[in-house]
Amino acid sequence: MAKLNLNRVAMSRQAPKKRAKNFNEVALGYSWEQAQEEASRCIQCPKRNCVEGCPVEVDIPDFIKAIREDDMPEAVRILKSKNALPGICGRVCPQETQCEATCTLAKKEAPIAIGRLERFVADWERANMGATKKRPKSPKSTDKKIAVVGSGPAGLTAAAELARLGHGVTIFEALHVAGGVLMYGIPEFRLPKEIVQAEVDYVASLGVKIELDSVVGKLATLDEIVAQGYDAIFLGTGAGLPMFMGYPSENLNGIYSANEFLTRVNLMKAYLFPDYDTPVKIGKQVAVIGGGNVAMDSARCALRLGADKVYIVYRRSEAEMPARREEVENAMEEGIEFKLLTNPKKFLGNEQNWVVGMECHEMELGEPDESGRRRPVVKEGSEFTIDVDEVIVALGTRPNPLIASTTPGLDTTKWGTVVADEATGKTVKDRVWAGGDIVTGAATVISAMGAGKVAAADMDRFLRG
Ligand SMILES: Cc1cc2nc3c(=O)[nH]c(=O)nc-3n(C[C@H](O)[C@H](O)[C@H](O)COP(=O)(O)OP(=O)(O)OC[C@H]3O[C@@H](n4cnc5c(N)ncnc54)[C@H](O)[C@@H]3O)c2cc1C
Repeated sequence: MAKLNLNRVAMSRQAPKKRAKNFNEVALGYSWEQAQEEASRCIQCPKRNCVEGCPVEVDIPDFIKAIREDDMPEAVRILKSKNALPGICGRVCPQETQCEATCTLAKKEAPIAIGRLERFVADWERANMGATKKRPKSPKSTDKKIAVVGSGPAGLTAAAELARLGHGVTIFEALHVAGGVLMYGIPEFRLPKEIVQAEVDYVASLGVKIELDSVVGKLATLDEIVAQGYDAIFLGTGAGLPMFMGYPSENLNGIYSANEFLTRVNLMKAYLFPDYDTPVKIGKQVAVIGGGNVAMDSARCALRLGADKVYIVYRRSEAEMPARREEVENAMEEGIEFKLLTNPKKFLGNEQNWVVGMECHEMELGEPDESGRRRPVVKEGSEFTIDVDEVIVALGTRPNPLIASTTPGLDTTKWGTVVADEATGKTVKDRVWAGGDIVTGAATVISAMGAGKVAAADMDRFLRG
């Protein structure tokens, strides 16, 4: 038997000093030779544990085999038959806790770099076939009409699945572009918007109509949408409402929610000034509060916009950080300073009410809390001050209350998330399904896609009686 190759092929990245000054993509993807070498490490084990680790059940060993045989159109076909957004997933999915965690080689050492190979296939398709050209044959129409509310990964996946089954699907999206967080939140240097747009176009090419600038709950309620002749609704409106520390001093000028900051920088393209004239504060000493992907993205954007010093201020230790390991390492390499076991006590302002500093406590870790992570406890008498002229609060998000407040009969939790059956996505309201961050609270792209897929299957069963 051939000896196992336990070393995965590294992917090139822009050098830290260079990339800290531009918004171009950091990770550069595999070359054909690198993809071949990595694909050849897959042992094609019969148990297919990796497929079980994938919320959308991509036939991972099969597309890797197709790469190995240099049959790229077949690799594309296999991948896209289960995942309409492979270029996105290949870049931002936390594979290390999903398909790569269950890969048989993970028991020995380095699992197959499934995400990098997925990205390779998606990028090959865009360069060689055009994302929308090769699409499955149109199915027979069922004459059923479905409204999908929200065009993030949950909504796009539900829409693609339902269109493939022959239903007439219209997505209603509040913003002027489709893609949800993929467009307005995750920065260009991690997920180029050209790739998101190509995958949104692919979903549209399956026959899905996308109505932009359509705020459901304002233009029409869910009941009115049903009255207009829609047979079923999928709610994928995400969790876009930011949470704050709740201190009165948080209202000082120069303090942003990460949502607002990232929306200005990414969606409204402040990073392309002067071509796009979107105002955003360019801080010189910036503190970002939080330890998730949103905090890493905010800190790295602030650095690229010209800050001299950017701090991540996080109340637990590095081990508890919810951000992807890869992104924490990228941020550290770029020069972001991590102030761990630190929590702001209050923000300090000048006479013009601009933030000029942040008084913080040192923290220590106590017993685990309900999340299973050790609870951070204030170290008495440990106060110190950091000079800052911009603060970005990245403490998590909740669903916007608009849909819940305009939809009688929808069950919601105390956090504002919509209650839906995990196995079907069905809410307690007739003809309404839901999935993604609106149900789970802020989570991941692939979990939102998995929920979209589960709900689409149940909606199809309902529509076919
Ligand atoms: C900055 C940032 C970085 C992240 N990084 C990662 C990462 O690296 N990896 C990862 O897996 N996950 C990451 N996430 C989380 C991931 O992006 C989300 O979990 C995922 O996008 C949720 O998908 P969704 O479809 O449920 O909602 P969203 O992507 O939020 O999409 C919801 C859509 O619904 C629209 N909408 C809302 N209300 C209405 C309404 N009333 N009418 C019509 N449309 C409406 C919104 O405009 C939006 O377009 C990140 C999140 C952020 C904010």
